[in-house]
Amino acid sequence: MTVRVRLAPSPTGTLHLGTARTALFNWLYAKKEGGKFLLRIEDTDKERSKQEYVQNIFEGLNWLGISWDEDPVIQSRNINQHKNAIQKLLDKGLAYRCYATETELEEMRMSQKNQGQAPRYDNRHRNLSKKEESTFIEQERDSVIRFIINDDELIKWNDLIRGPMVWRGKDLGGDMVISRRAISNVIGDPLYNLVVVIDDSGMEITHVIRGEDHLANTAKQILLYKALELDIPKFAHTPLILNPEGKKLSKRDGVTSISDFKELGYTSQAMANYMTLLGWSPPDGIEERFEINTIFNLFGFERVNKAGAKFDWDKLNWLNAQVIHEMSPELLLESLIPLYKEKGWQIPNQKWAIELIKLISPSMTLLKDGIEQSQPFFEEPQIAEDGANQLKLEDANLFLKHLIPELEKINAIDFNNEKASYLINNLSKNLNIKKGIAMKTLRACLLGTLKGPDLITTWVLLSNIGKDRSRFRRFI
Ligand code: GLU
Repeated sequence: MTVRVRLAPSPTGTLHLGTARTALFNWLYAKKEGGKFLLRIEDTDKERSKQEYVQNIFEGLNWLGISWDEDPVIQSRNINQHKNAIQKLLDKGLAYRCYATETELEEMRMSQKNQGQAPRYDNRHRNLSKKEESTFIEQERDSVIRFIINDDELIKWNDLIRGPMVWRGKDLGGDMVISRRAISNVIGDPLYNLVVVIDDSGMEITHVIRGEDHLANTAKQILLYKALELDIPKFAHTPLILNPEGKKLSKRDGVTSISDFKELGYTSQAMANYMTLLGWSPPDGIEERFEINTIFNLFGFERVNKAGAKFDWDKLNWLNAQVIHEMSPELLLESLIPLYKEKGWQIPNQKWAIELIKLISPSMTLLKDGIEQSQPFFEEPQIAEDGANQLKLEDANLFLKHLIPELEKINAIDFNNEKASYLINNLSKNLNIKKGIAMKTLRACLLGTLKGPDLITTWVLLSNIGKDRSRFRRFI
């Protein structure tokens, strides 16, 4: 048997962290088993589905390094198969039309609530007589189609993550609606649980791996597989992703889309790595920093937690910093160039840019930190309070006054670390100024603040592009 798994996103929003993590687990499992990972776009909600979200989902998966096999299946194109299945259930007497109006259903729910019961459909139209049915049709009532769920039915499966599962028919809310309301001689739009069963079966899916919020759906879908005499796939329900407070991660938590993380400066490698750790842990002795392309052989459901996975920003940041520090300066530069372009910054030449990257990368956690740290090399820096205070010192002024004529003797292109160190040491000694004061003064002029990367290299790089002298002259 070839393993066939799928991701079935609804294109009603951008690629969500939870969906991307589901994609990853499916992909890892398919890779490990030498199987296929498929995509199905669940676009049956015509109003909320948008092509731009389909694009965002494809782009997000590509960015994470998750590739899929075969052309994506577009759910709305299978509507005939979905309707045929509903007709089959009607013909077999396993489904029926329910003519209850919205108002009647609301009254039913209210009365259940008043009696302290959980709301459920009371199966009132399960056994309508021919006469009752024709009265409703004469009244031109619309109808939904409901699939019969017997209260005493026991639904069992062996979940690959959660172990043996048992659901009772009576906990599934009564006979289930499988098609939207429509006039009574047509089949209205087929609904989620029905269409998923038909599509998963049509795509020959062997393992359905999805979030634990689908547990009740799985119970309902198993009943549909049986009623339609289809092979039932295996199921694995992954733990939910929780926010740091332990609640289900939602839009209210701010950043939840993969594109948001990308925008914040996270690398695709760190994201893919981190998401794999959201619910799965590597075997002992395997480090938490890994590439998904090398770890998939170790992936398995036995190491997936049942409990919810708390989102941990510190760990994600740590992984991102690791990824950045592992990158060659050339690769890191390549990742930063598009961000430089957005800012309108042009690198003077490759060699200089590589030296800049080497200078700033050790203190980078996010890619966008590279932008912040590169800024004084492309734009005039703002003078921060600590820089301004430093430049008010008498010794600072004295040092700068003597520095400028010395610099005029040196060709900016030839300026290097040795010459810079020599100037600092020599001038501060001759002027009887503390070397620390000299260095802080240089830093304040060049970067506007006393914080920043290695001073000598910073100076040399700025000098090489002709930006140091003017910054010194501003303060004398
Ligand atoms: N479209 C559903 C969702 O995004 C698919 C669930 C499933 O995997 O069956 O939640």
